[in-house]
Amino acid sequence: MNIPLNTTCPLCGKSNNCCNGIDKSRGICWCTNETFPQEIFDLLSEEDIRKKCICQECLLQFKN
Ligand SMILES: [Zn+2]
Repeated sequence: MNIPLNTTCPLCGKSNNCCNGIDKSRGICWCTNETFPQEIFDLLSEEDIRKKCICQECLLQFKN
């Protein structure tokens, strides 16, 4: 099995710090408590949507 890890942000390419893509036993990820506006998903390519997590930095930047 060779599942690509969901560790990088599709917008900036940095680590997204999302534990949902790495190890769920680490606990609840920061993104679980955040709301992601629909518009931010419009920035992603279709194959990245729901596969790669946006990092907190990009989310905050988008909201500002
Ligand atoms: Zn990012």
